Amino acid sequence: MAVPKRKVSPSRRGMRRSHDALKAEAFHECGNCGELKRPHHMCNACGHYNGREIVAAGL
Ligand SMILES: [Zn+2]
Repeated sequence: MAVPKRKVSPSRRGMRRSHDALKAEAFHECGNCGELKRPHHMCNACGHYNGREIVAAGL
């Protein structure tokens, strides 16, 4: 069985894990119209937030 030759040092382990952190998604699909919108923000396309219309649609 293939086995690592040496123990991975704490430094190398940290370098490997430097890309593992989860990041908050900057955009998410609007539940009403499917347009990309920012989380916890009203949808710019249809004016909906949390399943109901907050602002009249259109620009
Ligand atoms: Zn929308």
